[in-house]
Amino acid sequence: MIGTDRDRTESDGAPPDSVRVDAFLASPNFGARANGRRPDSVVLHYTGMPTADGALAWLCNPTSEVSCHYFVFEDGRTVQLVREADRAWHAGRGAWQGETDMNSASIGVEIANPGHDGGCPPFPEAQVDGVIALLRDILDRRAIPARRVIAHSDMAPERKRDPGEGFPWRRLHEAGVAHWVEPAPVEDDAPWRPASEGAAVRGLQAQLALYGYTVAQSGILDRQTTLCVAAFQRRFRPARVDGLPDASTRDTLARLVATGVRGKATPDA
Ligand SMILES: [Zn+2]
Repeated sequence: MIGTDRDRTESDGAPPDSVRVDAFLASPNFGARANGRRPDSVVLHYTGMPTADGALAWLCNPTSEVSCHYFVFEDGRTVQLVREADRAWHAGRGAWQGETDMNSASIGVEIANPGHDGGCPPFPEAQVDGVIALLRDILDRRAIPARRVIAHSDMAPERKRDPGEGFPWRRLHEAGVAHWVEPAPVEDDAPWRPASEGAAVRGLQAQLALYGYTVAQSGILDRQTTLCVAAFQRRFRPARVDGLPDASTRDTLARLVATGVRGKATPDA
């Protein structure tokens, strides 16, 4: 039985927005999208709690003031908590491609997984299949490009690590529901050190910003930049997540930007 830990509400059983959804279990934690905005992106999360049922109960608890649109269990079952037309409370402080109200701009998907605090267990195959099927439906219905499916850590690198470096972005890309490039192998070159400065650092910051990350073009490898590089690595070059721009990181970023900058038609968009 799904969601036995939570109280039933009268919206339970309403027709879901997505045909991929098994049930609608209404969360009270939502508001109106700013200016009636239509979502043009999707933010992926892990729940970061020991059990899926506990996480689902929390997302439906009015005192938590958090929610999401969709929740995907380990076995792939998916429930909807908030209507897509409404603004769920999943993204919080942060920005992507200059947009600071990501709750108004996006659809939030919570993926049941204990996360870093729970030892980063792998995402089961059935769950990844469920996420892919859900994303395919959302992107198709709303004409959202695959490159606008992002990690929570992408929009909030200083606060968030989810869905984590173990999340199979390659599989999502192969299914056509995420942007990704094959990461360059990690070499034993000396990465740039924190506080390095110069035109090359500024160039790296410009590429991160062009792709969508929020980073000042200071020309200095400052804390904001290393956190941003760590978020990039977590998502695109997960073999080593240390925030230091080694050759593999720089090469992977350059190829990523070349195939997926904003507003540019890309082969997989
Ligand atoms: Zn999150």
